[in-house]
Formats: sequence, C-alpha cells, structure tokens
Amino acid sequence: MTQRVKIILKTGKDQSLLRFHPWVFSGAIKKMTGNPAEGELVDVYNNQDQFLARGHYQPSSIAVRILTFKNEAIDQDFLNRKIQKAWEVRATCGLTDHPRTNAIRLIHGEGDDLPGLIADFYDGVLVMQCHSYGMYLLRKQLADAFSYVLGNRLKAIFDKSDGTLPHQAPVKPVNEFILGHATDILVKENDNLFKIDFREGQKTGFFLDQRDNRDLLGKLSNGRKVLNMFCYTGGFSVYALRGGASLVHSVDSSKTAVEITRKNVKLNFGEDSRHEAYARDAFEFLKESDSRYDLIILDPPAFAKHNDAVRNALQGYKRLNAKAIEAIRPGGIIFTYSCSQVINRDAFRKAVFSGAAMAGRRVRILYQMSQPADHPVNIYHPESEYLKGLVLYVE
Ligand code: SAH
Repeated sequence: MTQRVKIILKTGKDQSLLRFHPWVFSGAIKKMTGNPAEGELVDVYNNQDQFLARGHYQPSSIAVRILTFKNEAIDQDFLNRKIQKAWEVRATCGLTDHPRTNAIRLIHGEGDDLPGLIADFYDGVLVMQCHSYGMYLLRKQLADAFSYVLGNRLKAIFDKSDGTLPHQAPVKPVNEFILGHATDILVKENDNLFKIDFREGQKTGFFLDQRDNRDLLGKLSNGRKVLNMFCYTGGFSVYALRGGASLVHSVDSSKTAVEITRKNVKLNFGEDSRHEAYARDAFEFLKESDSRYDLIILDPPAFAKHNDAVRNALQGYKRLNAKAIEAIRPGGIIFTYSCSQVINRDAFRKAVFSGAAMAGRRVRILYQMSQPADHPVNIYHPESEYLKGLVLYVE
C-alpha cells in the first residue's frame, strides 16, 4: 500500500485543529510528504510530528476538510456510524417518522461532522450534494451507509453534485439516481404540501432551513396582508394562507419559481383568490408598491458568497430592509433574513439597524431566528450557522 501523504503544519497553525475546527487553510501548511490528488485522504501533523487529524485534500484555500481527529480508518463502518449519529440527532428532536413533517435535512456538512456533504430526505427520497471531490468519491459507500441506517424508509438516492463540486474537480458529475428511482416527490411540512423539483430546482429542490420560521409566520399571519419577497417555492406563502392571511402576494425574479409557488398554493388550497404571484425583481416591486402590506418577508439569496463581497452585501441588506420598513403599514411585521455564511449575526443586525434608521421609523425586534435543528451548528465551526433572521415590529 502506498503511504498516505502527510501534511505538516507551520508552528502555531495547529491551534484551530486542536480546537476541532474542521478546515486546514492552504496558508497553514509548511510542507507535504507527497503530491496528493484532489479528493485523496491525507493525514495532518503538527510541526513536532504529532498526528492531528485525517481528511480530504483539495488544492484550494481550504486545503483539507477534516473527517476525524482520531487515527481511525475512513471505511464503511465509519460512514455508517456518522450517518447513524445524524439520524439519532434528528430523532432526538422529534423530526424522524413525524406524522406531519416528512422532509428533513439528514446531513448538514460540518454540522454533522461530514464536511462536503449535504443530504435532504424527502419522504423516502434522499437528494445529496457533494461539495468536495473527496466526498464524491465516497458516493457508493455513502449510499450503502444511508441504506444501512434508513432501511426500508429509503426508496431512492439522487446525487445532484453537478453544480456543487469545485470547478477544477477531475470529473464533471452527472445528476443521477445512484439507488432506486423516483419521479415526483410530494412532501408534508407541518401538514402543508409541497412538490419538490429535485432535478431542476435550486439546491436540492426545497429550502428546509426555513421550516421553523415559516411556522412562526403562520401564527402571526391571521388577517394580515402579506408580501412574500424572494418566494422560490412559496413556502412562506402557503403558511401565511393557512394562518388566515387576507391577501398574499408572492414575488420572485424567476418565472419557474413563481410557477412552482402557484402550483404549491393550488395543491394546498385549490383556487384561492387571496393569492397572486409575480415574476418581478424584488427591489423594483418594493419601489412601486403602495403601503398596503402589514407583513413582509425578505428572504433573499446570499448577497455575499465570499469575504471580499461582504461590504456590498451589507449595503444590499441595508437598502432592502430600508425599503420594506418604509413601505410597511404602521403596526406591520417584517421577517428579514440573511443566508450568507460570511456575514455574521451582528453584522446582519447592524445592516438592518442602518436600514431602519434610514427609513426613520420606530422598530422593535420581536424574535431572533436561525436555522432549525436538522441544520445543526458544529460548535467548533461557527461558519455552519449561516441563517440569521429578525422578526421586526414597525410602529
Ligand atoms: N424564501 C424561499 C427561499 C428563497 S431563495 C423559501 O422559503 O423557500 C431566494 C430566491 O430569490 C430565489 O428563488 C431567486 O430566484 C430569488 N431572487 C434572486 N434575486 C432576486 C431579485 N432581485 N428579485 C426577486 N427575486 C430574486
């Protein structure tokens, strides 16, 4: 057997690994004992030749994604144990075999100690996305591990790594079933029905991370006129209608998203004259809107994907929130979100604060929201907390 490549860190650069942070940045590397291929398993050592961790190599700024801090094999048994643990965590929160909700995130990357892997479980169909080539190489074993843990709950696995593998990865993946087959997926979320377009939709086809936030929204919607900005598949719209909203307008710049929203509303309520959906730019729509709404949801795509985009992104959040705070009726409620991983909670709150000051209205924070329990945050990897939300009351 060929010797596994050792990656030796510069003095002092072992500190974050000693605190279980699961990434090794390329700048921390002093030398390597060989030339690892992308996706290869490597061992990370400190400058005193002590073993620290084992993970997948990638020739990029995050050079190693750590799978274990122990000297143990990354084999079928290892993957079975990791996925079993992830299932147990969901079970602990009452999210498995739930009578009213059958769509959950089963693997949330670093939050489940499996960096580079996302897997959403839609009523028997698992849609997975590999974000590293190392994970992609383990597809077959991962499929076996999911089968081992889920047993006959699992009908099919669809691998959708086409858009998520790094550009320089040695293969161009094809989105395909790697176990079983499924055509249409229909799920329940708190008894609301949603069709999942796992093939063409964004990410795995549905944003499960807003489940708890949608639930709260439903509770605050009664009798309100609701504007759901960046609606995508209409999650918030369906909950608002269920919660007794008197009117719901859904807006998304994507025509496909608007179509899916219409279908999902119909699926739940048939023809419902309270609902209208618009394929429009959110900023334009807000500019032209009168002040009829008294509940506005702002759930835009990540404005910043990299650190160098943070400044502009914060300006974007400020402008967007200012517009909504200006437009909303007195006594209105705003659900406002940022899903940019590189923008932390404080920075987002400051951007919303600046937006409020710009609009010049009295604003209270009613709730501070985050992601649900099936998107767990690895305490050693604060970056896994990416969804930040504020529920505002505007006087
Ligand atoms: N709130 C949704 C998820 C939103 S994802 C849910 O609960 O599922 C972000 C959405 O914003 C995408 O559907 C994207 O098409 C849309 N979008 C991006 N830029 C936009 C813009 N300028 N105006 C309106 N929609 C936009």
